[in-house]
Amino acid sequence: MHADFTGIAYLVAAICFIMALRGLSSPETARRGNAIGIAGMVIAIATTLADPGVVSFELIAAGVVIGGAIGTLIALRIQMTALPQLVAAFHSLVGLAAVAVATAAFYAPEAYGIGVVGDIKTASLIEMAIGTAVGAVTFTGSVVAFAKLQGLVSGAPLVFRGQHPLNAGLGLVLVALVVWLCLAEAPAAYWLIVILSLALGFLIIVPIGGADMPVVISMLNSYSGWAACGIGFTLSNTLLIITGALVGSSGAILSYIMCRGMNRSFFSVILGGFGVEGGQAAAANGDRHVKAGSAEDAAFVLKNASRVIVVPGYGMAVAQAQHALREMCDTLKGQGIDIAYAIHPVAGRMPGHMNVLLAEASVPYDEVFELEDINNEFATADVAYVIGANDVTNPAAKTDSESPIFGMPILEVEKASTVLFVKRSLASGYAGVDNVLFYRDNTMMLFDDAKKMTEEIVQSL
Ligand code: NDP
Repeated sequence: MHADFTGIAYLVAAICFIMALRGLSSPETARRGNAIGIAGMVIAIATTLADPGVVSFELIAAGVVIGGAIGTLIALRIQMTALPQLVAAFHSLVGLAAVAVATAAFYAPEAYGIGVVGDIKTASLIEMAIGTAVGAVTFTGSVVAFAKLQGLVSGAPLVFRGQHPLNAGLGLVLVALVVWLCLAEAPAAYWLIVILSLALGFLIIVPIGGADMPVVISMLNSYSGWAACGIGFTLSNTLLIITGALVGSSGAILSYIMCRGMNRSFFSVILGGFGVEGGQAAAANGDRHVKAGSAEDAAFVLKNASRVIVVPGYGMAVAQAQHALREMCDTLKGQGIDIAYAIHPVAGRMPGHMNVLLAEASVPYDEVFELEDINNEFATADVAYVIGANDVTNPAAKTDSESPIFGMPILEVEKASTVLFVKRSLASGYAGVDNVLFYRDNTMMLFDDAKKMTEEIVQSL
């Protein structure tokens, strides 16, 4: 009877999670999706706590209170710009949890009903080995991704000779260790799997450079899902299996979508080797001419336009300029000017970053367009207002086969009659490459903090 109830409740929770993912696929339905996801999680936790196998509510309560307090504190304090590294840090914990559960199951199999020490079911040993390996790779990989994004270590790719053969060799040794564990159930095999997987996680992520980090984060997200799925098998918990598989597959799909957004193959990302820390001065500006303007100049150009396309990027997030931007666009709309927002799939520092900020500033969803839906319209726009974006507009992606961003589809802002670039300097963006658009005749650079400049334009308007 209890098992029936648990099965049904878990099914309801799983349906909630699927509906949550569906809801999160569009900004209009994201809040509802989130609420449904929370409801599913409450059902899942309550059902698990009602399991007669639960022996200590005190320990669980302590975990919920301490973990919940830390999570709440972090969520309240975190800056939007630091979300990618926070996600990486959280993924590392999922990986660690997978290793911890598998280790517990290896040393106390009776508690999990998978046999006794020295005689664990082969299927369980395979699940355990895979769960531990994926969890350990996720742990160190996520820690490296966190350290790179947080600036604790250089974001530049760390490449050395023989890297790929080394990783491939270690991968083969890992498979051999899994076979050894299944045949002999040797603790040495188990711990060697853990150590080797920790090393592999590190080695796989260090050669990946800054510009590819979005894909890495989503890939680690996928790994953490598969690790959770592995634990689900060890614990015979259907909901964990379903949830892990949902996280695993949605992370993999997101990685695929991002690779397509950058026009890079998944394997070229994983094999690594490009991208540097952003922010350094662009190399060799030479004596190329740059036309700089003031807020008044920009207001004049904007006032005389009939169609303006706004291109937000990472700098808008840093400056928190989204509210000032909406105010500027409202003023322009009041003067009969048509406004649209163009979002590049990897603008900012995480998928959907710009959509979230614009939604926070109550920008109407029907004014926000994806790259493929708006790119043709720059040619008919009078002004492209590029606010804190750089790489996602860089034509080097189309013209320079040596450029690290070559092949990435870009927003073709240069086709607008005038391009207004709001940024503080001529510095490069995340991929560390110079942007020739700064020196074009139809570009006016507006050198200032994005929020300050936009507020000044509003005043001038
Ligand atoms: P970029 O990183 O290319 O450029 C951002 C620009 O914003 C910088 O050149 C900087 O110039 C400017 N800036 C920074 N602070 C401010 C400020 N306060 N006011 C005004 N401008 C400011 O951003 P994009 O959004 O164009 O491109 C995203 C890049 O990030 C891509 O290379 C992408 O691959 C990568 N990436 C994307 C992720 C995602 O999932 N979306 C995740 C991780 C990386 P200046 O210093 O002169 O002001």
